[in-house]
Amino acid sequence: MSTNPGFDGLPAKFAQLGLTYDDVLLLPGASDVIPSEVDTTTRITRNISARLPLLSSAMDTVTESRMAIAMARQGGVGVLHRNLSIEDQAAQVDLVKRSEAGMVSNPVTCPPTATIGDVEELCARYRISGTPVVDENGILLGIVTNRDTRFETDPSRPVLDVMTRMPLITAPVGVSKDEALRLLSTNKIEKLPIIDTDGRLTGLITVKDFTKIMEFPFATKDPHGRLVVGAAVGVGEESYKRAMTLVEAGVDFVVVDTAHGHSGGVLEMVARIKRETSVDVVGGNIATRAGAQALVDAGADGVKVGVGPGSICTTRVVAGVGAPQVTAIYEASLACRPAGVPVIGDGGLQYSGDIPKAIVAGADSVMLGSLLAGCEESPGELMFINGKQFKSYRGMGSLAAMQTRGDKKSYSKDRYGLQDVGSDDDLVPQGVEGQVPYRGPLASVAHQLVGGLQAGMGYAGATSIAELQENGQLIRITAAGLKESHPHDIQMTVEAPNYSRR
Ligand code: 5GP
Repeated sequence: MSTNPGFDGLPAKFAQLGLTYDDVLLLPGASDVIPSEVDTTTRITRNISARLPLLSSAMDTVTESRMAIAMARQGGVGVLHRNLSIEDQAAQVDLVKRSEAGMVSNPVTCPPTATIGDVEELCARYRISGTPVVDENGILLGIVTNRDTRFETDPSRPVLDVMTRMPLITAPVGVSKDEALRLLSTNKIEKLPIIDTDGRLTGLITVKDFTKIMEFPFATKDPHGRLVVGAAVGVGEESYKRAMTLVEAGVDFVVVDTAHGHSGGVLEMVARIKRETSVDVVGGNIATRAGAQALVDAGADGVKVGVGPGSICTTRVVAGVGAPQVTAIYEASLACRPAGVPVIGDGGLQYSGDIPKAIVAGADSVMLGSLLAGCEESPGELMFINGKQFKSYRGMGSLAAMQTRGDKKSYSKDRYGLQDVGSDDDLVPQGVEGQVPYRGPLASVAHQLVGGLQAGMGYAGATSIAELQENGQLIRITAAGLKESHPHDIQMTVEAPNYSRR
């Protein structure tokens, strides 16, 4: 072992000081910046930008399609978890991609032989209000919407009997947005089928999409006007199949999501997906400069940082491994910045103020678990405990997430390298199960998080994420400084929407 002095005169074995969110504060800088006017646009991956530097965690108590849709509408991005079958995860991608679109290019349709019951089931599954009816050659025959079925009492009746038949108001392939809106509004219709010269249905434009554009002007969209969504995969052959299926379903980026991204399996998986597809690939998690460099060298379009900072995570105590998150982000950025690869700081954020801290340390965006698990849009039911509302939140390395329940297989084990453990009794968990207070809809939670970030940018005098990264300065604080940071010497009587004691 080298005896060269490391940090603070210690041997090289202890060469580094590790700092995390509670160890630092962002210094105020000279500023004329008005918080509400800052631009929080950032890069999530090499080729995907978002208005907000926020991702929701790929966890089964945080991100399924509902959360992913809500995140993208707010201007962030959701990453769909992978603790479900390949088909189910691909169906979640499909739900997000269909939720909102400039034009749906392969709309949900039904044949004329379908029953009213069939159509109602389709509509409930895709949260739509009706579908075009097409024959076996794709020729548009009519449209069936809830207006046609509302007063029907017999679900076995064929839609042929109740649909609104051709000729309908339609538009040709290539119709402009303005013309489509004119046709929808002048004819007071909600759905505009797009047909080719043979009368074949090629797409559908709905009025909902226009109202959504006005309601969510900063939504994260792909070049076709559909919401952007990411999805997690693991390593190995089965996960490769998963990645290919997700790409086919239209996912915008895949995240090779493991507890140890600086490993052969992850690097190979990143390189393989990059070789075989044109989709952006994020690799992780790592906590060192060398780990980040290895992912950059493997071709990753984004590097996810975080070994053990998560609120539900026990890796640091079970395996004794990790690096405090602010230092880990800084170290990763040293490898990623010169290569132009965005850094995602994953886990460990407790308050909105941790977002600007992560960005100053070198992150381009942050991934949130516990801060979003209490949202209305996260999976899981509300629980009432002593009159207060909670939602469950569990680590993907917790026993519950890794156990096989009945015929419900767990797909979470390989995140922690436990894929070869046959019996649930032999699992060594790296996470816990718990609950977080119910926080209401994501829109209000995101408002508080972004408000905190904007305030931080105002104090730092940064008008953009790049300026915050470049000019922001952190100061290391002591335990007394941290105590001073939180409310002290009073008894809090009212809970603030962005602050509660943990
Ligand atoms: P939080 O925002 O709650 O502090 O952290 C969320 C992050 O923790 C996730 O995005 C994921 O990277 C990580 N994570 C999720 N489940 C587990 C687990 O069981 N063990 C560990 N080590 N990390 C977890």
